Amino acid sequence: MSSALEAPVGQRELSIDILYTGGTFGMVDHGDGLHPRKGIGEEIATVVREFAAGSGIPVGLRYTELDEVIDSANADHDTARRIAARVRSRLTDHCDGVIVIHGTDTMAYVGARMAFELHDIPVPVMLTGAQIPLGQRGSDARDNLWMALDSIANQPGPGTFIAFGAAVHPAVRASKRSADGYDAFVTLRKYTPPATRALPAAWPGETTSPVGLFTAFPGMDPDLLDVALRIYHGGVVLECYGAGTMPMHGSATVEAVRRAADRGTPVVVITHCDSGSVDLALYRPGRALLDAGALPGGDMTREAALAKLSYLAALNLPSTELRRMLTTNLLGELTDHPHIDEN
Ligand code: ASP
Repeated sequence: MSSALEAPVGQRELSIDILYTGGTFGMVDHGDGLHPRKGIGEEIATVVREFAAGSGIPVGLRYTELDEVIDSANADHDTARRIAARVRSRLTDHCDGVIVIHGTDTMAYVGARMAFELHDIPVPVMLTGAQIPLGQRGSDARDNLWMALDSIANQPGPGTFIAFGAAVHPAVRASKRSADGYDAFVTLRKYTPPATRALPAAWPGETTSPVGLFTAFPGMDPDLLDVALRIYHGGVVLECYGAGTMPMHGSATVEAVRRAADRGTPVVVITHCDSGSVDLALYRPGRALLDAGALPGGDMTREAALAKLSYLAALNLPSTELRRMLTTNLLGELTDHPHIDEN
């Protein structure tokens, strides 16, 4: 679907591509719980038309939907890559920006992965969604779509962002932290993209080796970690306490990590804290993880760490290159360059 909205003669039109993937934004409840519906293009066009009239910015809209719109809780390991490929395939020379309407539950995970997948495109990508469906009382859907449109109009630099509530968050630093608030997302830590981006130009295919996330907790059975490291043999983000500690269970935890590293499974340690960074040299558990072959994930969010590891795993890089990339700030997902022992 394509349409020009409120474009006065002679005034430059903002050319926007909108992709609707599902989420609460377009959901309905027929008595059995909210679920996404298809065919909301006319409602979107109405909101965009209102934005054009209200802001005085004429908008040229191209709109499409995924064949199957989903509750984003059902996002799988390949959802973000598929959405990114769809965005890329629809890009035109005239496009000023792309808006992806997505469920909030996995928006930060999908957005972070899309930031890596689409790191080389010249226009901004704004993910947005809603806590309350479009058209319902108190809905934030219209305001959030306005926010995304306004952000593209006023901040036309490339990058992938989440436009939601009162703020625009860099996807590689974003996290959903409210189940029901209008400001559902936060930006964790400073966003400092490097001056020159060091990502390989290669275009990854579908991730074949599964990549996962494991969170440490008191009472954690090291066998559970061992199983996770075997299932997610493409790589595991290990979300530890504080500076990068976790229950050691004698040597069981470290041996599980060592076996994984020996099998070629990268293990990236991050902290579950909202600020600060892992420092694996500080405590004995951290040192033991480092000695076993774990990699310091610096101050990456869990969403960005999982996205980065999945993206890099799909590139099939030599292991030293993979280690270097994982510990290097590629898109602003890391503040610093954590120390890495290359022995
Ligand atoms: N469960 C919904 C989803 O993520 C929540 C939302 O969109 O706000 O698709």
